[in-house]
Amino acid sequence: MIELCGRTYTVPREKTAVFCIDGEDPEYLDDALARGLMPRLAGALALGGFFARGLGQMPSFTNPNNVSIVTGAPPSVHGISGNYFFDRAAGVEVPMNEPRFLRVPTIFEAMERAGVRTLCVTAKDKLRAMLGAVRDPAVRAPISLSAERAHEQTIPGDARMIPAIVGRKNPSIYDWDISHYAMEMALALHAQLGARLVYVSLTDYVQHKEAPGGPMADRFHARFDELLGAYLDAGFVCGLTADHGMNDKTRADGSPDVRFLDDLLRAAGIPGCRVLLPITDPYVVHHGALGSYATIYHAPGAAEKVRAALASVPGIEAVMTRDEAADRLDLPADRIGETVVLGDRSTVLGKSRELHDLSAVQRGLRSHGGLHERVVPLVVCRPLRPGFPREGAPLTNADIFDLVLNGAT
Ligand SMILES: [Zn+2]
Repeated sequence: MIELCGRTYTVPREKTAVFCIDGEDPEYLDDALARGLMPRLAGALALGGFFARGLGQMPSFTNPNNVSIVTGAPPSVHGISGNYFFDRAAGVEVPMNEPRFLRVPTIFEAMERAGVRTLCVTAKDKLRAMLGAVRDPAVRAPISLSAERAHEQTIPGDARMIPAIVGRKNPSIYDWDISHYAMEMALALHAQLGARLVYVSLTDYVQHKEAPGGPMADRFHARFDELLGAYLDAGFVCGLTADHGMNDKTRADGSPDVRFLDDLLRAAGIPGCRVLLPITDPYVVHHGALGSYATIYHAPGAAEKVRAALASVPGIEAVMTRDEAADRLDLPADRIGETVVLGDRSTVLGKSRELHDLSAVQRGLRSHGGLHERVVPLVVCRPLRPGFPREGAPLTNADIFDLVLNGAT
């Protein structure tokens, strides 16, 4: 047994893999299962496997949720409040990709300490350092690789670059099958590395581009299912979840439905506000840096004025003070601004009109970040023991390793 963030986990007796399907609203799985696109997942569920809806963490962005998945804890505990935060002391906006921002160890560090070899493969390179982090330098680091940079990476004891081992070149980060490449990598490498616990985190390019039933979404799920089958055939206990869902964020004419917060605050005559969009990451073709969550740094005394300027704007669903947001959304208060703003199901939030390059998302913007992208699937491809899922607190994506390691039969 290992302990982490108030939970205990059984050390895996069998090879175990958890997949985070980035941006996977459960409707993608419902739709793909209903149309027979995922026979291996359907087969596992027919044999008593577990499939439920649960909640992701707020904000419904990639980094906070991946870190919750791998720590079993909410952002208020692990400290990752977005893909970006504003470092007040330094006066700069900083990507939260570095291990120094983590306030707790990951399950991989805890497993490595117990002698379990762990392997993390992420599609997006931005997650690689945090997944491979160790806080205790005496602990062997998890092996952490990315599909995006696989052509620059090797594994211990093998001089070949990763694509030579996988047997094909890694696709670009904007290819439909970069996620599958991450799954192929972990499958190809785990035996050589002796890895018993594997985590593969995919990318949401496909989910940003197409709703359930789109041709690329169909291809994505059919190939995912083939690879899931390959893991099951290789003897893995498999679980899957998502970091967040995805919704259309468009007006009736298909153009992006955006509220530009800097413009609104300027029009209301409130000076000295800094709007931070923590969806921002290097992959702006996905979403144009537009999501349904923003935080605003401003003078403490301006909170009521900011609320008055934004709360009644159509499409803005909630305006919260820092304390309200920390309390209601389980966020780390020291890593958010004085105000938190949420867009509704079909609305995204921007800084100012001239700052965003909307050329890549002029039609059919799909994005996430708010409360409406919080519902995620939780799947275990084995029947669960009695007592699972646990009663009490609502199921979240932070429970997936508990379900797979402690709950799977
Ligand atoms: Zn994501």
